[in-house]
Amino acid sequence: MFNPNVQVRPNVKDIEPYKPGLSNEQLRKELGDRPLVKLNSNENTLGPSPMALRAMEHELPKLHLYPDGGSDLVKAAIAEHHDVQPDQVFVGNGSDDIIKLLSETFLDAGDEIVTPFPTFSQYTFGAQVMKAKVNLAPLRADFTYDIEALLAAVTERTKLLYLCTPNNPTGTVLKQVEFDELMERLPEHVFVIVDMAYDNYATDPERFQFNAQALKRPNVCFLHTFSKLYGLAGLRVGYAIGNPEVFAYVHRVREPFNVNRIAQVGAIAALSDFEHVKRSQALALASRRQYQALREMGMYVVPSEANFVLVQVGDGMRVFEALRKQAILVRAGFAGLESYVRISFGTESENEVCIAALRKVVAQV
Ligand SMILES: *Cc1c(COP(=O)(O)O)cnc(C)c1O
Repeated sequence: MFNPNVQVRPNVKDIEPYKPGLSNEQLRKELGDRPLVKLNSNENTLGPSPMALRAMEHELPKLHLYPDGGSDLVKAAIAEHHDVQPDQVFVGNGSDDIIKLLSETFLDAGDEIVTPFPTFSQYTFGAQVMKAKVNLAPLRADFTYDIEALLAAVTERTKLLYLCTPNNPTGTVLKQVEFDELMERLPEHVFVIVDMAYDNYATDPERFQFNAQALKRPNVCFLHTFSKLYGLAGLRVGYAIGNPEVFAYVHRVREPFNVNRIAQVGAIAALSDFEHVKRSQALALASRRQYQALREMGMYVVPSEANFVLVQVGDGMRVFEALRKQAILVRAGFAGLESYVRISFGTESENEVCIAALRKVVAQV
């Protein structure tokens, strides 16, 4: 007999299973052949980088060979892209992988992490797996960062502090001056993880931007992903930039071949697909302007620096359900954001369909 009460670690029993945005496969089952407007997972609506696709096809005949466990060519390409040294780069099976590995490297039972609230759920997940406690530092009412709240949430047991900029699901950014002040005042025993998954969509000149100065600090790392701008969410590649001394320990807890052969080749090619990058960035900027229409309809649209917007609609779950019936998928149900939906940017016509549907639905619910 399997008895989870005796056999499973209590903290694992307490973990809420991750609720992803519905996948294409699940949706096809539900909606049949109806055209789908999938705006629920911040994916790149333009698809994968075409250069990555070609490179990966070319790699298929080598699939009987293990990948390079050190992801050396990927590290070299990323190092060149960001003008850092290859040993300052750590590559993972998506940034989710790296968040879990950092949790396993740093956190013991009873340790603490600090995260903004609301933010990406994976930071809390990593802590729960390791029996660490999560201290939430609320963002301000307008979802900008509150440095005092972050500092107040830090204790002697705080091992990790997460920042997400632009923040998911709010789209708001941490300012450079706020980052500088935080680093100045933060106790030295706290390791800072800055998740920049959406930074390559951001344009605010006052926002924190990755720079050589930030990298001089021993207790910080910066997360990036191929899942958003490069359109490779299904491939699973993310990376961290930071202190090689820290990464030497993170390497001890990772799986020996954590980034597969196809993913390595695809990531390298995507990095130099400037055409696809430019088109993706331009579409996000145009989409941001497009969603201003909701503001004119009286809805609160949180100013976004990412490839999605957070919109106050009344009852978020009811609006989500009403849109879903029309095969328009958005995201609702974020803790603390019950009156909001998060809408990922689509093509101009997908955005138009979503805005028109929202107009009707919000008037009704
Ligand atoms: C989408 C996203 C990521 C990317 O995760 P991957 O595992 O690389 O797909 C990372 N951080 C945030 C905040 C995200 O929204």
